[in-house]
Amino acid sequence: MRIFAEHSSSSNSPDLKVMKFGGTSVGSPENIRLVARLLAGTNEPLIVVLSAMAGTTNTLVEIAGLLEKGNPAEANVRINALEHHYKTVVSSLFETAGYREKGSEMIRNHFTYLRSFTHDLFTANEIKCVLAQGELISSALFQFHLEEKKIPSVLLQALNFMRIDREQEPDQYYIRENLDRELDNQPDCKLFITQGFICRNAYGEIDNLRRGGSDFSASLIGVAVHANEVVIWTDIDGFHDNDPRYVENTHPIAELSFDEAAELAYFGAKILHPSTILPAKVAGIPVIIKNTMNPAARGSAITDKPTGKGVKAIAAKDGITAIRIKSGRMLLAYGFMRKVFEIFELYKTPIDMITTSEISVSLTIDNLAFFPQIVEDLKHYGTVEADHDQTIICAVGEGIASESNIASELFNAISDIHVRMISYGGSQNNISVLIPSAFKKQALNALSAHFFNH
Ligand code: ASP
Ligand code: MG
Repeated sequence: MRIFAEHSSSSNSPDLKVMKFGGTSVGSPENIRLVARLLAGTNEPLIVVLSAMAGTTNTLVEIAGLLEKGNPAEANVRINALEHHYKTVVSSLFETAGYREKGSEMIRNHFTYLRSFTHDLFTANEIKCVLAQGELISSALFQFHLEEKKIPSVLLQALNFMRIDREQEPDQYYIRENLDRELDNQPDCKLFITQGFICRNAYGEIDNLRRGGSDFSASLIGVAVHANEVVIWTDIDGFHDNDPRYVENTHPIAELSFDEAAELAYFGAKILHPSTILPAKVAGIPVIIKNTMNPAARGSAITDKPTGKGVKAIAAKDGITAIRIKSGRMLLAYGFMRKVFEIFELYKTPIDMITTSEISVSLTIDNLAFFPQIVEDLKHYGTVEADHDQTIICAVGEGIASESNIASELFNAISDIHVRMISYGGSQNNISVLIPSAFKKQALNALSAHFFNH
């Protein structure tokens, strides 16, 4: 991953904030109203980044899939159902005939556009055009709602400034220059609305920052305008110290370091897109996670301040496959690892955990798209065994890998569970173990009981 360059030039106000509202936060007319009221109560200059309404991107992915498979009839059925949904949104969101008409016309245009793909051959880039409609619609609806409520605001088109380069990495220079220009065009505006997720690629085509990418949009925008804070409004009151789906009485974590949050974002609950942290960290911009449905709750603040000792959170990631390659050729050899890693690189399959012994190496993957090919290729170098349905359990906390007792406490707490792999010392902030998924709930609860005394 590229290192983001920090910059200091900014014509923007130093108290500029970026706020991102996720799919649930704009998922219904009631919630859209709630968000608008929340914004009306803030006085600072704001850039608001919106996701598509909850469920929309999933439906668009299905529609694109059907079009790709050459099934326009079924795609049409889904398009009609989605359009019907948006018509009901329009009729309950707007109070005046004028805005109902504006909203209806906007929806008609987007769905006429979507239907145009059912008549023609479908190309790879058109998938991205289909996926972009969710954010384009939610932001237009939101802007109309603000207008109807006489809340002054300007809709900025993300496609005019958000861009990725040939390596699919954000083009920070382009983003900053173009966003600055867009903002300078509206010197009197204090409230800007824009779309998350969508962008253009190096060829000027419509593209996106991958699923869940609106968080990433928000931190890229925050860095570009030198915001003093990026607030991610979601449907949970921050990172919890354990997974609330498996453990009772979990608690939100008030303060996290960038490194702790980066470790946690990768796991479990998908609260934050993992790419969000790096640009904010490099620019030193705090990222705050807040709950739209419970704005009084403190949430989680992610900053560069020290956050204290000990384990902050336990997290889990399922769907892991462990692969062990055993080979006498590894003994005292060099270059063996490179050959093994090259196979994963060839099949664009990321490796998560790694442990080695003198004659074998174990590693984990979560993408099985090329699993059979990978195993075939690995067999050139030794015997290969694989275990599916594994879970990575990870303890996160600043410096826990250098606190003498934490590892022993962790293993004591789960002493009756068979541990397949251990990762210790790769980072100071993370101790991970790999266990069979069947024992995940037991492990999460045992670790919570031990470290957080629930
Ligand atoms: N709407 C996009 C998705 O569902 C982006 C996002 O919500 O962050 O993946
Ligand atoms: Mg999200």
